[in-house]
Amino acid sequence: MIAKRNLRDKISPAAVQVATRLVQNGFEAYVVGGAVRDLLLGSIPKDVDITTNATPEQVRSVFGRRQCVVIGRRFKLAQVRMGNETFEVSTFRRKPSHEESKGRDDDDGMMIWNDNEYGTLEDDASRRDFTVNSLYLDVVGKQGVIDMTGGLKDLKAGIVRVIGNPEERFIEDPVRMLRALKLVGLHGFKLHPATEAALKANKAMISMSSPARLYEELLKILFTGRSLAILTAFHKYGFLTYFWPDLEEIWSKQDGVLVRRLLKTRDAEVATGNYSHSRALALATVSLPVALRALRPITEDDEDAILLGDGGAVCLRVVRQFFSSFVLPRLYAIRVKEILLLIPALSSELAPRFYRHREYKYGRLLLQLLVKTLDWDPEIANRLPPPEIASNMKRRRRRKH
Ligand code: ATP
Ligand code: MG
Repeated sequence: MIAKRNLRDKISPAAVQVATRLVQNGFEAYVVGGAVRDLLLGSIPKDVDITTNATPEQVRSVFGRRQCVVIGRRFKLAQVRMGNETFEVSTFRRKPSHEESKGRDDDDGMMIWNDNEYGTLEDDASRRDFTVNSLYLDVVGKQGVIDMTGGLKDLKAGIVRVIGNPEERFIEDPVRMLRALKLVGLHGFKLHPATEAALKANKAMISMSSPARLYEELLKILFTGRSLAILTAFHKYGFLTYFWPDLEEIWSKQDGVLVRRLLKTRDAEVATGNYSHSRALALATVSLPVALRALRPITEDDEDAILLGDGGAVCLRVVRQFFSSFVLPRLYAIRVKEILLLIPALSSELAPRFYRHREYKYGRLLLQLLVKTLDWDPEIANRLPPPEIASNMKRRRRRKH
């Protein structure tokens, strides 16, 4: 599994260039976190994070204003553009003490080297969440992988182990529990016993995290290509009840079984790297079973009712409820509703009326996914023209009349 040789060659050359420029200017710079973990596991990392002892202001003076912006208020971070890629360059930090973490909002700009918040490489290694996420790759010099927390051994054994006291670190930031189970689902890792015990004791705390942060995490999960495995890990550890109560509630029922089957099909598509990046489509996919159930009485009665708007209100209510623990932005709730309403519409004789619908592209993709999942006659989806053609078809006809 772990091939330590030639790791540097698998990192984006632009990332190596960023680290090299920092080192040439007298700083330390390493690739860190998920990128190193994924490389060691044999996959090509999608984004590469860099960490350095240069402060964000120093990073900016190395790369200049045109290539570098400093973002964040409490935790300043430099974003460096190199070619057409952008990298986050973080400064080594140490865990602020309780006293120091209070009142940090008052910081108004310049922070100096050796300020309370910044630290050494060792400090930085110990403030990260898990040993497998605390590996540093020296892509400029010859140090190879720097491992200060036993991450290499844990990675080889497939173990997620919190750095420091698991209970304290989960209470400090409950999203770390979610991140731990994500690694379980993504890579089939096991939780270290102390990490597992702390997670089981504190899992309810996840519901105290900000719904906005959980919403972002949910979206990231849906775009991993392993969403079913991750949500299954959440369910098995009793974590789903707190993270997404509405999914836990249906997990073993008919609707939940269909959600899981849809996710399996979606994961396979996402894993090809060529699937739609639409967030609205991702959210519509998971809520399709509950929406179809709610719409059934309406569609059975009268297919036209969908057009008349009766379905819209029902569907919107269902979508809002299903994602209520995340607080879905209004725009997305509406888009998801529209995509969902297209499913009965596009699978009926009324389909051509919807070819110029603004969500047609995604309604069609979702219907294709459903057809594949349920092994329906492929013709149901194949007869729908691709969006470019569908919109022209209608326009041409308009011109004639
Ligand atoms: P991926 O990007 O593949 O989802 P990742 O581990 O790189 O996984 P990021 O969110 O990009 O995840 O974070 C980068 C690194 O920052 C992590 O590997 C970890 O070292 C550190 N980190 C992220 N979130 C936390 C956290 N909540 N607590 C402590 N360290 C964290
Ligand atoms: Mg990352």
